[in-house]
This record gives sequence, C-alpha cells and structure tokens, in this order.
Amino acid sequence: MSKTAHQTLWQLKGLKTTCGPFEPGRSFDESSSRSGVGATPRRGPPPTPVGDAVTARIHLSPPDVGPLEESFVIAAVRSGWIAPLGPEVDAFEQETAARVDRAYGLATNSGTAALHLSLLALGIGPGDRVVVPTLTFAATANAVVYTGAEPVFVDCEAGTGNLDVPLVADLLRRHDIEGRQVAAVVPVDMFGSCVDYDALLPICEQAGVPVVEDAAEALGATRGARPAGTFGQASAFSFNGNKILTTSGGGMLLSDDGDLIAHARYLATQARQPVAHYEHTDIGYNYRLSNLLAAVGRAQLRRLDSMIERRRAHRSRYAELFANVPGVRLLAAEDGGANCWLTTVVVDAGQAGWHAADLGAHLAAADIETRPVWKPMHLQPVFAGARAVLTGAAQTLFENGLTLPSGSAMTADQVDRVCGRIRDFLRHRPSTRLEVPEPGRRHDPEPASAAVPAL
Ligand SMILES: *Cc1c(COP(=O)(O)O)cnc(C)c1O
Repeated sequence: MSKTAHQTLWQLKGLKTTCGPFEPGRSFDESSSRSGVGATPRRGPPPTPVGDAVTARIHLSPPDVGPLEESFVIAAVRSGWIAPLGPEVDAFEQETAARVDRAYGLATNSGTAALHLSLLALGIGPGDRVVVPTLTFAATANAVVYTGAEPVFVDCEAGTGNLDVPLVADLLRRHDIEGRQVAAVVPVDMFGSCVDYDALLPICEQAGVPVVEDAAEALGATRGARPAGTFGQASAFSFNGNKILTTSGGGMLLSDDGDLIAHARYLATQARQPVAHYEHTDIGYNYRLSNLLAAVGRAQLRRLDSMIERRRAHRSRYAELFANVPGVRLLAAEDGGANCWLTTVVVDAGQAGWHAADLGAHLAAADIETRPVWKPMHLQPVFAGARAVLTGAAQTLFENGLTLPSGSAMTADQVDRVCGRIRDFLRHRPSTRLEVPEPGRRHDPEPASAAVPAL
C-alpha cells in the first residue's frame, strides 16, 4: 500500500490512534539510531533512505521500535512458539507485573479487552452503573457498554484532566440516599498522570465500590511511591502502537487477586473447560496476546525507562518554551510522577491572543502532527442521553487543548524543528487580546446536552 493510500485509510477509519503509520520501507535500525536508543550492530542490508529528514512528517506518538525488538521477535519465531500462546506471553506477564508491583498479569490483545475482562471478572453486567470520566478515549466507556452496564460520565479537574474526585464522592453519596448502587468506578490516568488516588480510593472503599484503573497510557508513571497500574482491584494497560510501550497491539490486565485473574484468563481463552472436547458453560472471548507480540513487549519493557526519559525531556523543552507565554499552561504540569506520554498545552485564548487551533494549524503547515484533546464522551452522539455529572471542565479542555509531538523516537533535530516552529508562531502572533472564543469554534461540539437525564 502506498503511503498516501495508507494515510487516507487511516483518516477514513477515523482511527483513535495518535500515532502515524509505521512507515513502510523504514527499517527498524533507522528509527532507533535516530532516537539514539539500542545501538546493537545491524545485520543485513543497509537501511532504505526515507527522504529528507528536515521535511519528514513528525507524528504525535509513533512506535519506538528498534533492533532489540527485532531480535526478540526473531528469537520467538525461531523458537517455534507461533500458535498463539507460549513462553514469551508467560514471561511478559510476569515481567510486567513485577515491574509495576502487581501479583498477576494477564496479557490481552488490546487494552480495551483488558478493561472489558476486568469488569466481567468483577461481575459487572446489565442493570449496573459504572462511573467513567467524560474526558477519556471511547474505549473506557465502550468496555462498560460491552458488559451491558451503563456508563455514568463524570467531569474532570481543570488542571490535570483527571477525574474530579469530589464529584464522584457526591455521586456515590446521592446514590446511597436513593438506594441505588454504582457497581464500579473506572478512573483514567490521563496522558500518563495518575488520578488523585489518595482521595479517590478511600471514598470508593467506604462505599463498597470496586475500582478498575484505566492505566492504558500510564505505564511507568507513579503517584507517591506507587506505580500506575497498582490502584484499585484491577488495572489495565494498553500496548497499542501509539502508547508508551507497544506490542504493535495489545494490553494487560493486572491484579493482586489471583481468582480475578484466573477467571479473566478463562474468559479470555474462549471459556474452555479443561476437558479435551471443550465443554462450555460461559460465553468466552478470544482476547489473548500472541507469543510473537509478547516478545516485542519484553524488548520494549527493557527500554521503558529510557523511553520515559525521552518523553520527559520533550515535556521539559515545551515547558521552557511556554514558560513566559501568557494564557498558556501545560496539562498536569506539576506532576513529577507523570510518564509524559503526551504533552498538552492548554490555551486561554482571551489571555494569549490566539487559539490552540491556530498553533495546531501553524504546525500542520510544517507537517507536524498535533491533536485536540478528546471530545468528551457526554458530547459524543453515540452517548447522547447518557447520565453525566458536569462542571464544563472537560469541554473547556477539549476546546482549548492541543497535544504536541511527544514520541520517544523523536530525535533532537525533530524536537528542535517543532520548537523552532512554535517559537516562530509565538513571535508573529499579535499580543493583543482576542475576544473570548465562542465555544466549539474549532470542533463544533453540541452544547452540554439538555437531554442529560437527572441521576
Ligand atoms: C489506548 C486507550 C485504551 C484502549 O487501548 P487499546 O489497546 O487501544 O484497546 C483505553 N483507554 C485509554 C484511556 C486509552 O488511551
């Protein structure tokens, strides 16, 4: 497929990923040598040239895969463990669980599958209500809907984009009064910054409501002394191509509860009873990760710290760049435990004199990818009429946020190019105040729905 066709398909499918396609014809060695990671000597033919480095498109968060991953995959292929489970899967589960200090891991073929399984394993189903942040990627809410339960959307903190914990506390209290139960809370560690679990967990515990941490973006992040992925009864990572660690596609469910993991493992493996003729007493799923992809994950895990360091360094560059720009802040700027998966600027156009979308357009003209913050779930047509507890914070971030190139494979030259282009933009913007932006100027969101039913 030509690059253009590939990109068109990418756009047509409206894919969720924030990464660009892995360029066909681009060798693994090349991407890694550019990123300065993994300098094992290359075997085989020399790398294919990929055009002028000055003009090559800079993506938001492309995969960072090099010779180490290549050697792990080759070893897995040569081992003969192709069909689909094998020792790489077991080792990847153990190594990931050990890395984040969880007792058990279950590797899945996506983060969404891990979320779905965690909810099933907690017994969530039709008639249940599950609290989900309205500011998240759709997969969090979709996993709830797959079980037959109903998502209840809750707004976020303006500073971090993470779940607004006092709103959750209110909601649980009100439900208690009305004699209804929230069956689970699924906080999302937004862009690699952990939720305020010190506040959230005691509230949920007191209400007897289990927590599933959607840590899809947060591998390697910490809050206090605790790693992301250790909060709540279960947690889910994503290893999609755009995430901080990728297996091309994949995910993992983690828990300290051995029975929960065993049940999830059974459901993820077609719910086969352990007899030769495959007795079935439950509806199962085909959700396991393949052995070859687990091998990629094991290599990536060995590089995780250096990949996080690079993303943190990118954030520092952006922080310096915007430090004295009026009306501009970085999302979750204060979080020293963030893995810095994506760096997002939030622009108060009234103060800055320009909109986040203006900067996005300026960078797009130089073939630099940016992306708005997610459109909140309560504004999505598919969730029209869903229950929601709103303050407007998520919508404001959607309208004023812009996510900048943050990938760990981004070279120093590329970072210079992005920063130079931003500097150029800032220099030529009028510093006079704009009128306050009309909401939805860029994304045209519907007004917060009047049809949102009372709780
Ligand atoms: C990526 C992501 C998911 C889904 O992970 P997949 O591996 O793509 O299925 C879920 N939740 C959040 C917050 C994500 O960013």
